[in-house]
Amino acid sequence: MRSNFLPKLINDPLGDPGVMVEFLCQQRALQFDLGDLSSITNSELLKISHIFISHTHIDHFIGFDHLLRVIFGRGKTIHLYGPENFITNVAGKLAGFTWNLVDRYSELVTFEVTEVHSSHLVKVKLKAIDRFKQSDKREIPFENGILLDEEKFTVRTAILEHRIPCLGFSLEEKNHVNICKDKLKKKHYQSGPWLKELKKYICAGKSDEYILEVPSMVKGTQKKTLGQLKLELVLISPGQKISYVVDTVYNEANKKRIIDLARGSDIFYCESPFLAEEEARGQERFHLTARQAGIIARQAEVKKLNVFHFSGRHTLRTEQLIQEADEAFMGK
Ligand SMILES: [Zn+2]
Ligand SMILES: [Zn+2]
Repeated sequence: MRSNFLPKLINDPLGDPGVMVEFLCQQRALQFDLGDLSSITNSELLKISHIFISHTHIDHFIGFDHLLRVIFGRGKTIHLYGPENFITNVAGKLAGFTWNLVDRYSELVTFEVTEVHSSHLVKVKLKAIDRFKQSDKREIPFENGILLDEEKFTVRTAILEHRIPCLGFSLEEKNHVNICKDKLKKKHYQSGPWLKELKKYICAGKSDEYILEVPSMVKGTQKKTLGQLKLELVLISPGQKISYVVDTVYNEANKKRIIDLARGSDIFYCESPFLAEEEARGQERFHLTARQAGIIARQAEVKKLNVFHFSGRHTLRTEQLIQEADEAFMGK
């Protein structure tokens, strides 16, 4: 597997939760949760284009002010996604400051906020230039859990239980489609814009019967099906899948939603605040134990489990949390 994504936890497993995913060779990053951001540099924060918030308990959203301070005045548009009541939470944060001079500046900031409901998404804009008054509010369909679908990746969500709705996320990189230059030469095909079209059609999943006109150096223009060209020229390698699940309870319905979301992930970031012996405490507080995280990871057939968001009472038992999660993951 090759990947253009570089994911990392923003803090150690006892610190506030959050994962940053930087894009290789691009000034861009995605952010999952905004816990304490003091370990992230300003230049890293300035790369963030989209932020996905599981829920607005303080340890997952305290970093919003820090981020706002860094990006304010940079002329950026930041896309924020969160669960029910999220627009009120973001507007409430922004209402905590005074914005009387914003009309004297041109390079400000805009937030495009998306609130996830089970049947639809609500979108709204909050522009600094308008003192963050809500505008352009609209409802759009919410299909297949998809929040963001770009040319190179898709972000999906599942609404999980934490006594309130709490969002889990998966980031799935689309297949990498590469043209083998040697084979192109051997076939005497000319390079040109048609190769871009070819890649685009493969990524879009167009039928193998689709016919393309291929400029040849020896035979003029030839007609070839997409299927033929795939066999002749193309190397398709899978992208990376990363899942992020925090603050949620262990029960059959919820477990199924997590497994569906995280299935086959290359890396599964999963909370595990409590030890196996604290299962009752986990149920009471709507959190997972390390063992439950391991069981879910095993059933979701993920390749790597990365447990984090350990309870502060376990400063001296972090090894045990990791071991319990690993053992359940290995089926012991
Ligand atoms: Zn939490
Ligand atoms: Zn919480």
